[in-house]
Amino acid sequence: MPTMKAVAKTKPEPGAEIIDIDIPTPGPDDVLAKVLATSICGTDLHIYEWNEWAQGRIKNIPQIMGHELCGEIVETGKNVKNLKKGDIISAETHIACGHCYLCHTGNAHICVNGSIFGVDINGVFAEYAVVPAPNAWILDSRIQKDFASVMEPLGNAVHTVLAGEITGNTVLVTGCGPIGLMSISVARICGATKIIATEINDFRIGLAGKVGADVVLNPTKDKIVSRVLEETAGLGVDVVLEMSGNPTAMIDAFGALRPGGRYSILGIPDKPMEIDIGKHIVFKYATVQGINGRLMFSTWHKTARFLSSGRLDLEPIITHRLRLDEYEKGMDLMRQGNCGKILLYP
Ligand code: NAD
Ligand code: ZN
Repeated sequence: MPTMKAVAKTKPEPGAEIIDIDIPTPGPDDVLAKVLATSICGTDLHIYEWNEWAQGRIKNIPQIMGHELCGEIVETGKNVKNLKKGDIISAETHIACGHCYLCHTGNAHICVNGSIFGVDINGVFAEYAVVPAPNAWILDSRIQKDFASVMEPLGNAVHTVLAGEITGNTVLVTGCGPIGLMSISVARICGATKIIATEINDFRIGLAGKVGADVVLNPTKDKIVSRVLEETAGLGVDVVLEMSGNPTAMIDAFGALRPGGRYSILGIPDKPMEIDIGKHIVFKYATVQGINGRLMFSTWHKTARFLSSGRLDLEPIITHRLRLDEYEKGMDLMRQGNCGKILLYP
């Protein structure tokens, strides 16, 4: 049996290891992809650091980490008709059952029986990975290959930005991690008229300006609510895109939202938090919505078009390209926040 190298969680403790493992065999409805590039997500860092969430969620150790990939199909299962050897793919990482109420009603991204690569099953920080055929996304040849790996988090940004009106609106993006940065880029090409961003890390503050934020505020130096009101003629922003998961940033953003505005939350707080529902939601007449994953697959079509049209440039957001065996360096950069998106090449 031929083997491959993979970065795996091998013990229920912080860290990861490079292991030699059999190259997996695709099932009848899967494809086997040679991983051309993969990228690190905050979730991977949580699993690597073995935080409380990871301890509760990761059940199958040893498990290969990672879920974002650009792959080239090298084998297809016997039932797979729409994909062939040589196709370059990205992948939707929410694996849906296809038969529950949510799958039947256009909400496969929140399938009740869903599982996630690299979280519930083996992932893609490896030389090869199995991808269920319905999850494979064939890359338009006009899109740079390694951008395929980043289409999954970019899809989170596209889903959030397009979850309500955006054209002609003023927008506050809280948190300029990779997905916050992508949201700024997407909001800009969708015609947002003023984009205010908040971030505490200097490196990312710099990137936010580069990708098109008109104003970048730092909550450790600026009074966020009053500065946003100043920037919006006293009204507040039409739209908040919450991309930090930080409770202070979240509360400030409610104060910075105009009455009747849209507040879309992708960021995930570490633990339950308190908010004044009367003041911030009811009397403000705010529309607050949680955003999970990507619509399957309308978000993917839009994401691909943004890239293939050449209107959206991810290059400023991809700050590091490392070898897969340099994953520890990548995790360190992620922990410090001195990076945008980090690509790893097996
Ligand atoms: P990230 O952790 O890299 O980015 C968060 C950013 O927020 C960091 O740059 C951090 O410095 C900044 N920040 C922290 N405190 C802040 C404050 N008070 N004010 C402003 N900025 C502050 O995360 P990411 O990968 O860009 O993802 C963004 C968020 O979305 C995370 O919370 C992540 O867990 C979540 N997420 C949700 C989904 C989903 O499906 N809902 C999917 C992917 C990621
Ligand atoms: Zn389902």
